[in-house]
Amino acid sequence: MADTKALTARATDFSAWYNEVIARAELADYSPVRGCMVIRPNGYAIWEQMQRALDQMFKDTGHENAYFPLFIPQSFMAREAEHVEGFAPEVAVVTHGGGKELEEPLIIRPTSETIIYAMYAKWIQSYRDLPLLINQWANVVRWEMRTRLFLRTTEFLWQEGHTAHATEAEAEEEARRMLGVYRTFMEEWMAMPVLTGLKTDSERFAGALRTYSCEALMQDNKALQAGTSHNLGQNFARAFEVTFQTAAGGLDHVWNTSWGVSTRLVGALIMTHSDDLGLVCPPRLAQYQLVIVPIYKTDQERATVLDASQRLRKELVAAGIRVHVDAREGIKPGAKYYEWEGRGVPLRLEVGPRDVTSNSVMLARRTGGKKEPLPMDGLAGRLTAIIDQFQADLLAAALARREAASLRGASKQQFIAKMENEGGLVYGGFCGRGVCEMEIKEQTKATVRVLPDPEFRSPVAPTQCMWCGRPSVVEAVWAKAY
Ligand SMILES: [Zn+2]
Repeated sequence: MADTKALTARATDFSAWYNEVIARAELADYSPVRGCMVIRPNGYAIWEQMQRALDQMFKDTGHENAYFPLFIPQSFMAREAEHVEGFAPEVAVVTHGGGKELEEPLIIRPTSETIIYAMYAKWIQSYRDLPLLINQWANVVRWEMRTRLFLRTTEFLWQEGHTAHATEAEAEEEARRMLGVYRTFMEEWMAMPVLTGLKTDSERFAGALRTYSCEALMQDNKALQAGTSHNLGQNFARAFEVTFQTAAGGLDHVWNTSWGVSTRLVGALIMTHSDDLGLVCPPRLAQYQLVIVPIYKTDQERATVLDASQRLRKELVAAGIRVHVDAREGIKPGAKYYEWEGRGVPLRLEVGPRDVTSNSVMLARRTGGKKEPLPMDGLAGRLTAIIDQFQADLLAAALARREAASLRGASKQQFIAKMENEGGLVYGGFCGRGVCEMEIKEQTKATVRVLPDPEFRSPVAPTQCMWCGRPSVVEAVWAKAY
């Protein structure tokens, strides 16, 4: 049975609230190994729904799944200079196996570019072998000092797409396409609006030519990098000698992309929608979209309402709705409501003896409002529409919240004040110099989240760097981030 103590309010301590939501919804737990996470069935169910949707989107855009080893020879990491420098501080190294010291230490993959491109060098000979479009679902390990469930753990689950192309233009198109896939997934499935755009050099993936990102704003007004897509150029192809015979008969290095999202998305989902009662899960990703709670006193009533509940369940499941009947005995309806609220189930149907007699049910929404009686006739169709509306309302609310927390055309003083107080997104002119980025980070803890794509830019382009007053070369979005 769930703990019945009220959660810490978001406004009081967002970080404590986040941990308590996860505990109440039984999404994950800390493991005996420091920094690692156990994903519990309720949390894993959300990840599985995410995987299913994304996997279909990857396949619809021509990708196939494969699996590469967990271990990477240490020498592989060293072949791409920026890559090894970027990842060296956080790799775990295996030095012994079978009771003996290994001839060459093995790295536990923090990401798989090196081992995958070593294989691509064998598989790609000619332009006819291109493009090569592969995704893998895997776990990776990055030795993190400060960890938080779902957001930053030493081991996490993710997918990494790795593609090889004949031209730079094709690789660029692929990197942008997958950024678009992520955005669609985040908006349509997670009901989480994101800004897309380019990362500055200081936030670029180690070894990439260009990194694109989807950035979301959490309820505490801190930004979260939710997914990235990289145009790797020919950097890894040169390091691993991935060459191909061109149509014209010459020899060239392939152009690579890589792109990934992780279980961090579960954390993003929690921090985007949940409230002081617990998890709020978008219906499209919820393990159960609807829970039926039978209400009865006598044995005869019990038989009647359970029978009606099961009939309803079958009808709704047939209509594609994920339904659970909570028929547990010895737990009062109120306690069940409370438990399912904490677990974020979008809709609840209460079925009592009088409802059965009047051929109706009582509907309660996780996001509040008055309970509403619905006739049993035509219920599946009506609930399908309500679920769609629920999903749309979550996205609209998250979008309104983000826009209310966004400031465009800010002065330096306004920016500093916003970062000291309520936080949020600040759009401003940027001179493009690393020294400005560094100063801003030191003084405000804010970073450039993204150089936004055209559709997110301000109607009038800024003319001056918000920080130093030099001419602006690009508009940037600043925020404190996870
Ligand atoms: Zn500047």
